[in-house]
Formats: sequence, structure tokens, C-alpha cells
Amino acid sequence: MQSLDFHPTGRHFLQIPGPSPVPDRVLRAMSQPTIDHRGPEFAALGLKVLADIKQVFQTRHPVIIYPASGTGAWEAALVNTLSAGDHVLMYETGHFASLWNKLAERIGLKTEVMGLPGPDAWRHGVRADLIEERLRADTQHSIQAVCVVHNETSTGATSNIAAVRRAIDAARHPALLMVDTISGVGSADYRHDEWGVDVSMGGSQKGLMLPPGISFNAVSPKAIEASKKARMPRSFWAWDEVIEFNKTGYWPTTPNTNLLYGLSEACDMLLEHGLGVVFARHQRWAEGVRSAVRAWGLQIQCADPAVYSPILTGVMMPDGVDADGVRKIIHERFDCSLGTGLGKVKGRMFRIGHLGDTNDLTLLAALSGCEMGLKLAGVKLAGSGVLAAMDYFSSHAAVLPQRQAA
Ligand SMILES: *Cc1c(COP(=O)(O)O)cnc(C)c1O
Repeated sequence: MQSLDFHPTGRHFLQIPGPSPVPDRVLRAMSQPTIDHRGPEFAALGLKVLADIKQVFQTRHPVIIYPASGTGAWEAALVNTLSAGDHVLMYETGHFASLWNKLAERIGLKTEVMGLPGPDAWRHGVRADLIEERLRADTQHSIQAVCVVHNETSTGATSNIAAVRRAIDAARHPALLMVDTISGVGSADYRHDEWGVDVSMGGSQKGLMLPPGISFNAVSPKAIEASKKARMPRSFWAWDEVIEFNKTGYWPTTPNTNLLYGLSEACDMLLEHGLGVVFARHQRWAEGVRSAVRAWGLQIQCADPAVYSPILTGVMMPDGVDADGVRKIIHERFDCSLGTGLGKVKGRMFRIGHLGDTNDLTLLAALSGCEMGLKLAGVKLAGSGVLAAMDYFSSHAAVLPQRQAA
């Protein structure tokens, strides 16, 4: 039999911004035998993960768990709250925002895309002032929902969601606030209740360090109210049945049992360490990686330091260098996968993930793979990014878990 060499020696460096490296502890939890999803043990698991995930979204309200990828969570959020032809405002921060817009159009919504013009569009976060201005002009309140991406995974910009809420309130506009935090939740600070979000969408395979296959809708009471009047056809995605079944720890259809074992374990890890500690850890890793990019003399895709992503860093190539060619060398020579440029930045940049099961030394090794690959590709570097990141990590103490008092 021909051997399929998916697993060379050592660990593959999965440095894409999702799916992220899954901790061994989570993989082991998922290897338990599948149990009866209508039996009593399952209800205990169901109630636990539903309670845990609320803490992760920082909400007291229901979180719906779907056996689907993030795209399913996008569709679920829209079909549960809106009716055909409804007018939605979609802010374009990057490729994921534009894919969400495409989905909204395909299901029959009237979308209005807004954002910065020209090449700046994909180098910044959401401009809340522009949203406020647009909503003030909508005196008839025809806009039913404002859709924004929290952590734009294609660029590495993490928008200020509290500012978007304030903008909607300042315009005294009743639109729902819908936020995609598919790559943010679990690794970047995210506060569903405090920020007044109506529907938050999450995914398993990025900030939550799980394999692909689970997605989430965290919903506000206002979103639940809207779902009672919404006319969009829905069955599998309908919140009402799921919420009803979830009260006793079950689902109307077969849940993804083994992924829920993993979710339970991942939530334990996040909550044992403390969300604040986890968020600070990602901020520190991100700064270490950015210090490397600066030392190389390359540009960071996100042009606004106020919204640098704690989860990934986009690295722009000098003119004439094909970013995918550089990625290919790094993959072939050093067994390290980096994120490709998506949509209109394809070939112009690559993305380094700093999420999932990682640490200082993993990131230093990944950066050394990047540095060697950039040199092999003939990119002229101003200096050593690896040395800069070593300086940063050694002069900034690691963020340690909050230990329980003895
Ligand atoms: C990955 C991602 C999605 C899409 O999720 P899938 O799991 O690929 O369906 C949507 N939005 C953002 C911000 C993402 O990072």
C-alpha cells in the first residue's frame, strides 16, 4: 500500500488563522466513545456546554449551538430575524465581510455595502462614525440590521463593537446589531451583553481552538422578539425549537457529540485560565509577531494600531513578490502552513495565526520559518524578525493562568 505521508517527523506548524492547532487535552476529550444523545449522561453534557459557552460569549441569554461551520451561523442569524427583501447595512472590512454580504444577497435580502473607499478599505476596522451618519440619514428606519465583522480574519483588524453600539444608539435607530466573531470569540475580548449585540456568530475552529464543525448564535431578547415576526423560511436553523429542547440539555436533531466533548474541554481550559488572561496572552503574542514584521521592514496589513488583531497578523509583500510563492517555499521546506491572501489581496500578503494551542517558542519557530522562506524567495529584509520577537518575548513576562487560591 502506498503510504500517505500526511505526518512527517515533528509537529506540523499550523500557523493559519483557523483551523487552529487543537490542544492535546481537547483531542483526548474528543476520543471518548460517542454516547446516546437522548440518554441521561448526554443531558449533563448538554447543560454544561450551554452554560460554559454563555460565559465565553459573556452573555446571560441563550447561545444556540449548530453542527455547522461559521457560514451556517451567518445564515441562521439572518433567517431567524429578517424577512425577504429587508434592507441590511453590511460594513466591508475584508473578505469575510464580503462573503457574508454575498450570502445575504443569495437568501433574498437587500444589502447595502459600506466602508472606506479604495485600497484603505481592507486595512482598517469598522468606522462607527460612518455607520452613525448613515443611520441618521435613514429617517424612515428602513434599515433592519447592521452587520459587522468583529475580527476580520482576512486582514487582521479587530473592530470596536462597543463603538458601533454607541453609534446606533446615538442615531436613535432601531436596527439590530449583528456581529460575526467567528474567529474572535475565545481569543479576543468579546462581550455580547455589555456591547448590546443582538446576534453574535461564533465558530469552533479559530479562537476556540477546536476542530471545524460547530458554530454559534448568541441572541439578545430583542433578537428573539424579532424572530417572532421574521418571515424568512427556516427549519433547521430555527432558534425556537432548539432553545426549547436545550432547556433540558438536549437538541431536536442529532448534536455533534464528540465535538461537544471537545467544546466542554476547551471551555474548561479558557475559564480555568481566566478569559482576561487568555486575551492578554494573545495580545502579547500578537505584539511579538508584529515586532518581527517591523524588523523585517515589511508592512502590517492592518494600518490602524488601535485595531490590530490579537489573533492573526497580515504581512504585506513588497511590490513584485508573490506572497503565495513565499508561502509555498515555507510549506515545502519547513512544514509550516501560513494563511493565504484572500479575495482582492490574494498574492499580495500572507497571514500568520497566533491562536489555538501555541506559545512563545512555537511562534518563534514559525517566525524563523517565515524568515528563512522570505530570504529563499529573494525578499530583501531590513533585519531579523526572529531576533526582534525574541527580544520582545524575553523582555515581556508571559501571561500566566490565574491560579485558584489554595
Ligand atoms: C472562518 C470565518 C468565517 C467562515 O466560517 P466557515 O467556518 O469557513 O464557514 C466567517 N467569518 C469569519 C470572520 C471567519 O474567520
